[in-house]
Amino acid sequence: MAKEITTIGVMTSGGDSPGMNAAIRAVARACAYYNVKCIGFYRGYQGMIEGDYCVMNARSVRNIISRGGTILKSARSDEFRTIEGRQKAAEHLKEVGVDAMILIGGDGTFRGGKLFYEEHGIPVIGVPGTIDNDIAGTNYTIGYDTALNTVIDAIDKIRDTASSHDRLFFIEVMGRDAGFIALNSGVGAGAEEILIPEEDLGLERLLESLKRSKRSGKSSSIVVVSEGDKTGKNVYELADYVTKNLPDYEVKVTVLGHMQRGGTPSCFDRTLASRLCVKAVELLLDGEKNVMVGLINNKVTATSFEVGLKDDHSINKELLRISDILST
Ligand code: ATP
Repeated sequence: MAKEITTIGVMTSGGDSPGMNAAIRAVARACAYYNVKCIGFYRGYQGMIEGDYCVMNARSVRNIISRGGTILKSARSDEFRTIEGRQKAAEHLKEVGVDAMILIGGDGTFRGGKLFYEEHGIPVIGVPGTIDNDIAGTNYTIGYDTALNTVIDAIDKIRDTASSHDRLFFIEVMGRDAGFIALNSGVGAGAEEILIPEEDLGLERLLESLKRSKRSGKSSSIVVVSEGDKTGKNVYELADYVTKNLPDYEVKVTVLGHMQRGGTPSCFDRTLASRLCVKAVELLLDGEKNVMVGLINNKVTATSFEVGLKDDHSINKELLRISDILST
């Protein structure tokens, strides 16, 4: 019979994302509801390795649902990538009496969690908290919706100045391996072109499209570029390339950077975090482990890490076609 769960640990790991606090709150409150002790570890896996933690009750998480960032802090831990590091973390959990862990983070966090469970048998459940939306086991990750709205807001503002000065703006958004943010914000903000890691549209096509825009009477243009776009050129090199080839354009670059991770979480992200984390606590109490929770077709669903981490969470290429039609 599985060991009874009386203490659940929670941490946030990898890049922070808006809604992580709502997730921590939901874990602490669900634990209180089910009469389970809750322990929060600081700085993700590093806090587990160092035994840096706090006991959390329902009141420890008051007034955090609306705050961006994470009160437990987040970190990347190289030590946890080693067998010795994971061993230290397991020893600290045993010392503190933690029976199971809820890991809030991205795909790297889940890979670490899977290994940790395999090596030490401590039940873990992953909750997808990352702005990247790049996890197969869920349609949406916590923080993605807020990040999209932050990006849209920034692009709208840039468009005001772009059109006042007849300029072409290259706007770099986050997404080294996944173009979700670029593609969706690009369509939502009415960008002329969207460059993403999953699709190489080619530099020639970009020039053609910009020339077409000019001919059709557009005086300003926005090109949204994912950090890891397939052209192989960074956003400054792209701007130089276009300046050289289309001297008629006055080209500017804006890198949105870390502002995309911050801010008040949207209602969608708060609700998503609340639903996923209540389910994560309930699954642990039911003896479930080594899975992630996610939202699939609007149903909270548990998926094994193996399947949840598959590389098949592809972007919706139909959006590229829509963008093409609408940028006419
Ligand atoms: P984001 O998508 O927002 O960047 P993430 O969870 O993918 O979040 P990572 O930095 O990739 O962020 O992973 C977080 C931490 O998980 C790492 O710092 C490391 O401690 C641990 N981790 C990642 N991959 C592994 C792995 N293969 N083995 C062991 N631990 C890992």
